[in-house]
Amino acid sequence: MQNNPHTTLITATAPVSPDTHGGRTKCLQRLVRLDLPVPRTVGLSFEAVHNIARGDMPDMPLLLSPFEAGELLCVRPSSEDPDWGGPSAILNIGMNEARFDDFAKRLGKDVAASLYARFVHSYSIQVARLDPDVFDEIGAEGEASLSAALRAYEEETDEPFPQDPAAQLAEVLRSMARAWDGTSARLLRQAKGAPADAGLGLVVQSMALGFGKGECGSGVLQLIDRETGLEQLTGRYLSQSQGRDALESGTKALFLERDARGPSLEELAPEAFASLIEYARLMRQKLREEMQVEFVIEDGRVHLLDGVRVSRTSRAAVRSAVRLAQDGIISRQEALMRVPPSALNELLHRQVDRSVASDVMGRGVAASPGAATGRIVFSAADAQACAAREEACVLVRRETSPEDIRGMHAANAILTERGGMTSHAAVIGRGIGLPCVVGATEMRFQLRKKLLTSPDGRVFKEGDIITIDGTHGEVLAGAVSMQEATLDDAFQTLLTWSDAERDIGIRANADTPADAQTAKMFQAQGIGLCRTEHMFFEDDRLTVMREMIFAENSEDRRAALERLLPVQRADFTELFRTMAGMPVCIRLLDPPLHEFLPSDHAGHRALAEALDIPLADVTRRVEAMGEYNPMLGLRGVRLGITVPEIYDMQVRAIFEAAIDVSKEGMPIVPEIMIPLVSAKREVELVKMRVDIVAAAVKAETGAEFEYQLGVMVETPRAALRAEDIAENVSFLSFGTNDLTQMTYGLSRDDAGRFMTEYVRQGVFEEDPFHTLDVDGVGELLILGAKRGRAARPALTLSMCGEHGGNTESIAFCRAAGFDYVSCSPFRVPVARLAAAQLAILDHLQ
Ligand code: PEP
Ligand code: MG
Repeated sequence: MQNNPHTTLITATAPVSPDTHGGRTKCLQRLVRLDLPVPRTVGLSFEAVHNIARGDMPDMPLLLSPFEAGELLCVRPSSEDPDWGGPSAILNIGMNEARFDDFAKRLGKDVAASLYARFVHSYSIQVARLDPDVFDEIGAEGEASLSAALRAYEEETDEPFPQDPAAQLAEVLRSMARAWDGTSARLLRQAKGAPADAGLGLVVQSMALGFGKGECGSGVLQLIDRETGLEQLTGRYLSQSQGRDALESGTKALFLERDARGPSLEELAPEAFASLIEYARLMRQKLREEMQVEFVIEDGRVHLLDGVRVSRTSRAAVRSAVRLAQDGIISRQEALMRVPPSALNELLHRQVDRSVASDVMGRGVAASPGAATGRIVFSAADAQACAAREEACVLVRRETSPEDIRGMHAANAILTERGGMTSHAAVIGRGIGLPCVVGATEMRFQLRKKLLTSPDGRVFKEGDIITIDGTHGEVLAGAVSMQEATLDDAFQTLLTWSDAERDIGIRANADTPADAQTAKMFQAQGIGLCRTEHMFFEDDRLTVMREMIFAENSEDRRAALERLLPVQRADFTELFRTMAGMPVCIRLLDPPLHEFLPSDHAGHRALAEALDIPLADVTRRVEAMGEYNPMLGLRGVRLGITVPEIYDMQVRAIFEAAIDVSKEGMPIVPEIMIPLVSAKREVELVKMRVDIVAAAVKAETGAEFEYQLGVMVETPRAALRAEDIAENVSFLSFGTNDLTQMTYGLSRDDAGRFMTEYVRQGVFEEDPFHTLDVDGVGELLILGAKRGRAARPALTLSMCGEHGGNTESIAFCRAAGFDYVSCSPFRVPVARLAAAQLAILDHLQ
């Protein structure tokens, strides 16, 4: 049998591997190799199980040959990854009338009936597919239940309960193999990341009964707490029991360790307890994983039936990986490779405090972790309006589409009626760290009437407060108590180890001091992009900004800019201070000026009043500034060249702030970035003025300072002409948002209208604004990088578009020799870990 890889006795040398026989089979072999007391087990390969599903049974006498005649057996699933699940285990195969009599003589009728009834139950429901309700009513204790179960089986099937153990086993194998091939099982495991053709192995194991004389029973044990990953002996044991009975509520299960709350296995069977702990520790050490052990005690002797990786939260997964490395069981690199970067998202967000009761009004798919409270809004536009009023809101949609993107950014959480883990709302929610519940189909969504009805009939209207728990897929009425993100020591340690491995820098895009604080908390190595225009949208500045825009001549413009100067200087001072000497890259004003002007009549009137000029003047000027295609019009460096006073003011504010903060002992070398460049001459002109302002500030203050000038490469021409552009600058930062827009000739703001269709019809594999188009935009990046470095080998290269935090973009930038990527502050930890994993993988190859 050992030479047949498809039906093999599990010995130390049996030919089994996780990808042919599944994780459980391989784990059992490891336990056998450790000489641990594992009952005799035969493993069936994926291929054997696949054949069984098609009706091609293995050689049953051969399969049964390692077991003693009359021995009871169990069958368990063994998928490649334990998380992919599988059909439930079936215990006590081989029970029949004859065995019942034997057991009744040896162990008493009650035990014999329990063993038999458990098998009849499982067989009836899982193999014969009879109505579970019938058997639930019967119960599983005692002879009367057994007779009732056997009778129910006969009535439902018109056949007596099968008595031949080999036939029973064959049917069990067949039903488990077929269950794996069923549509719902396939969809379920695909949702957990399994490939469509994932295989299932099965193990046939001789039963350690858990019933009998002396101390007998069953239980489970693990060495950590599954929520936190902290060291904590966890589990239960139940005398005279099987399977996972000890875990079922309402039983008289014992604690494992001595416990003030009640009796424990440690007191009842100290030797068995001590062996269990020893085995569990050995398993952790040798299997290099936190394992849950399923065990049976028979007359005081321990049997290990199974070991599976402890199913745990992301928080516990991080701590487990770190502890295993700290204990020298795995390397730091392996610890880093064990945590999927996206798992950090769960630790990064606020969560509902589950210890406090809450009012669950609906449920759906837990699509993006974290929790947030806000007022219900039913459209993206309303979400934006809420954000403008600084009110938290929950965007409620039937499903979201790219047109909702801005609203999603404005919302604090998303709830959709339709969708699953990979639907638009789910993917975007996870990407931007927004709590999200999708597929809440039991709730009634009436978007026109602006009503949301819970399954119990309660009606919630626009403006009502609800909470989205994206970690658990729950919708809660009202506000609830929250737990802040758990950036515990294990999380920090893992990221510190990441930093030691990775070979590409990670900075954050941060526009405000609050963003910068977050960036610093997540240990970004500086700010890669500060979009200064956001600073002008605040109320106290907006009017001055508008005054500046409306100035008739250079003098008036200067006067308005002089009022803006101290405000900008204060912004930059705070930013530099927060980042404490780390690099800060400030982009000079980018958007077209009319973005700062009101667009409706009421706004025009208010502006006329504020500036004390006739309404007609305001309307005329606003109209005159309008452009057919503003994103390709007077913006970015074009503004810097045609209205140079604005950049002069910004550059002065940067230098003065740098001097102030440097005096506090934090030497600042500001990085000044010019947006939307497409020609060398643009850079020369701006550089000339920047140098003049620098010289003036130095002369006025007597202070010396350095600065770096760079260009944001976001037009294709800038990438193509990087060689001459680089002559005048020390860095190039690729703005892949605009670069994607201009490479495709595809409006960032309007693409949503047809993006879904384009992806559906396979025109684009993915939305290129979310996933970097490595073929087209990527080629421009590579060209730009090569040409830039040809002119200036020490040129710093980076990416600062929204793509910056994605693993695949980081991989691309590393390969192209970039110095750093810059992404939103919340994605910094994910990017740090992803970058470390890429470096480790490279070294392994
Ligand atoms: C870009 O264009 O990629 C960019 C980062 O700038 P913005 O999104 O502000 O245009
Ligand atoms: Mg841009």
